[in-house]
Amino acid sequence: MFDLNQVLRDNIKRLTPYSSARDEFKGEASIYLDANENSFGSPLPVNYNRYPDPMQWKLKYKLADIKGVPPQNIFIGNGSDEAIDVLFRSFCTPGADNVILCPPTYGMYEVSANINDVTIRKVSLTDDFQLDLPGIEAAIDANTKLIFICSPNNPTGNALNRDDIEMILSNFDGVVVIDEAYINFSRQRSFIQELTEYPNLVVMQTLSKAWGLAALRVGMAFASEDIINVFNKVKPPYNVGQATQELALEALGNIEQVNGWIKETVQERDLLVSRLSLLPQVLRIYPSDANFLLVKTIDANGIYNFLVEQGIIVRNRSKVELCAGCLRITVGTPHENATLVAAISAF
Ligand code: PMP
Repeated sequence: MFDLNQVLRDNIKRLTPYSSARDEFKGEASIYLDANENSFGSPLPVNYNRYPDPMQWKLKYKLADIKGVPPQNIFIGNGSDEAIDVLFRSFCTPGADNVILCPPTYGMYEVSANINDVTIRKVSLTDDFQLDLPGIEAAIDANTKLIFICSPNNPTGNALNRDDIEMILSNFDGVVVIDEAYINFSRQRSFIQELTEYPNLVVMQTLSKAWGLAALRVGMAFASEDIINVFNKVKPPYNVGQATQELALEALGNIEQVNGWIKETVQERDLLVSRLSLLPQVLRIYPSDANFLLVKTIDANGIYNFLVEQGIIVRNRSKVELCAGCLRITVGTPHENATLVAAISAF
């Protein structure tokens, strides 16, 4: 049975949320002399002299509308990379606790674990890039606080079997983090709708991929209200700037444009698969539910360098476990993809 109090870091249990200057006063006033801001204004056409809403409510209400979850179940971070760090700081006692990662997977889980002095237990994916359930079960002990599951997975591109993920959600007494950064490109349904079923579930998503806002730095975590309240205690009070909140809100109004790009990206992905698979330089293309392909080649280093010389950058993953000979290639515009295929065929 999942019990949030059992999983939380001891010192976090005792914390009260940081109270920012404006928390004590919730209404509107004509003179604000409470937060040591510059009352004259900002040296910009728009005034950014006042601190932003620390809880980003407007943005959360809009996201709630789009995602079909209450705003109280949403955490917004400075990219989902901040959500990853907040997860470690909420649940893992440095030097004592451990987390389970399933490589090859997204690198920030390991970076954040190391920064927070949390032991990593690696349970590699199987040869077909699925979860090794017996391996995960064997790796869990009383100090295992988090299991990170990336689906669709980076860098392999595939979605992980839903039944396997549900098995872990039902049986693990710690927190299961499902990173859905690439969910918009996937045939698989998001786990967001399962939040009421699993109190130990945290779903992460981001505006950096399908939404085209990587430079803004907006990532989300969806979880029970109790877990979100913990994140709100652990995060820095003003973790998302005013300009970011405003621009993200505006962007979320353009969902049709984004849906159009998602459709086009998926079409281009399928086209890229069919074109690359004709090339003798390409040995295998792994099935993708994301906006990139993992491509096994005859010579990853050689092709990587050959592409660099022509001003085309892909990600060389040939040193990554289970990815020998592989390049990770983002699906670009039709022109970019055609240029890439022509360049590889000339190698
Ligand atoms: N999760 C995965 C699986 C990713 O690939 C990435 C970015 N490469 C992130 C999270 C980080 O996203 P953000 O830009 O929101 O920090």
